Amino acid sequence: MRRRQFVHGLAGLAACTLTAPALAKGKPMRIAVIGGGIVGASIAMHLAEGGAAVVQFEKLAPAAGATRNSFAWLNAFVADRHYQALRLASVAGYRRLDEQLGLRITWGGYLNWARDAAESATVSANAAQMAGTPFPTRSLSAAEFTALDPHIEPGAIAAAIYSGLDGHIDPVHATQRFLEHGHRHGARLVCPAAVVGFRMQKGRVRSVQTSAGDVPVDRVVVAAGVDTPSLLAMAGFTLQLRHAPGFLAHSAPLPMQTRSVCDAPGGVSFKQMADGSLVGTDSPDPPDIPVHAQIRQSTVDFPDDAIRAMHGNRALGKITAFLPGAHAATLDHVTLGFRPMPMDGFPVVGRVPGAPDLYVVVTHSGVTLAPILGQHVRTELLHEREVTSLAPYRPKRFSAAAG
Ligand SMILES: Cc1cc2nc3c(=O)[nH]c(=O)nc-3n(C[C@H](O)[C@H](O)[C@H](O)COP(=O)(O)OP(=O)(O)OC[C@H]3O[C@@H](n4cnc5c(N)ncnc54)[C@H](O)[C@@H]3O)c2cc1C
Repeated sequence: MRRRQFVHGLAGLAACTLTAPALAKGKPMRIAVIGGGIVGASIAMHLAEGGAAVVQFEKLAPAAGATRNSFAWLNAFVADRHYQALRLASVAGYRRLDEQLGLRITWGGYLNWARDAAESATVSANAAQMAGTPFPTRSLSAAEFTALDPHIEPGAIAAAIYSGLDGHIDPVHATQRFLEHGHRHGARLVCPAAVVGFRMQKGRVRSVQTSAGDVPVDRVVVAAGVDTPSLLAMAGFTLQLRHAPGFLAHSAPLPMQTRSVCDAPGGVSFKQMADGSLVGTDSPDPPDIPVHAQIRQSTVDFPDDAIRAMHGNRALGKITAFLPGAHAATLDHVTLGFRPMPMDGFPVVGRVPGAPDLYVVVTHSGVTLAPILGQHVRTELLHEREVTSLAPYRPKRFSAAAG
């Protein structure tokens, strides 16, 4: 009886590291994680929990990259079934981590509605993506819509769906919680410290060179968002990302209106954070017009505060048109972020071809995917076991030879 309890206890340690080859001699594997966004923070936390000696480098501040500027909707809305399964597993991971770490996730579901036939086609296509999963969307009549979310004034509804699976999160808070939990397991964050190179010997990594000095390591995880390609280039691997900017208006806090993530007509998306602030946009991408040429090519900020406020006030005005109770909302600030978007839209996860000690994780939807990626990276690096569900996402698909 006692023995059975002991074995069960070990299994409960979720992928316990005692059998990891690199730990067999009693020395923990030394792993550098580059990037203090939500993906790097989750990876560092999972590796430290697994027994690795983790040192994490962040050149600016935790969550300073795409993470801070993210809409942070947790969802599985993609057409590709394999990729959808990865996202579903990650959302399930968030349910556990929310309880364990107090992530304060708003599990309010997702509303998507249309006012005409053209928009209805998009709503139907979205519904089709979740059909056949354990979490299909539900069609809503106008009366059902109002019963579900009475503070929203949707206007004329041609089609509407609701997904109960989805949630939204404060990505900065979640990153901080991951970092704190990693720290409790011994992970060390060095910040500000930029990684500027790797010292390699016979194809193996010996140390990372940083603005805070050289640090000897056994493995390196590059989770540097849009800066990932320049780091991989130092190891001779070419990875291109698609340029994918997006801005969000943030209001001052208001009385609670809605817990849902809303995709409304006219390209308007919004959510209300736990602190009462509305966050959203009226344009997921900058329109392809000459004045936006620069922002579509490189990470530049708004030219000045007046243009920033103009975009923010326009978006907030369109959002509050759907929320009569929020008509007095005032703009607090506007964020402009750059999504780490692989060229084919799918995550890039795995060992870097030609540099087996370097492991890369770069993805859009990194907020949704952070838990499952952290878990899988731990399995692959500490247990040296290939996670088969990551097979389609390997960096080698972008190798010159693969092309
Ligand atoms: C407008 C917008 C909306 C989005 N909406 C969603 C959404 O609804 N749902 C969703 O799941 N995802 C969404 N995303 C995508 C999501 O935010 C990103 O995929 C995710 O934040 C990526 O996290 P990351 O940790 O990989 O990268 P980042 O957050 O960019 O972190 C990378 C970090 O690495 C650091 N760094 C870079 N180079 C170095 C170096 N040499 N040395 C040390 N540190 C370095 C940077 O300073 C940065 O802090 C959205 C993104 C944007 C911009």
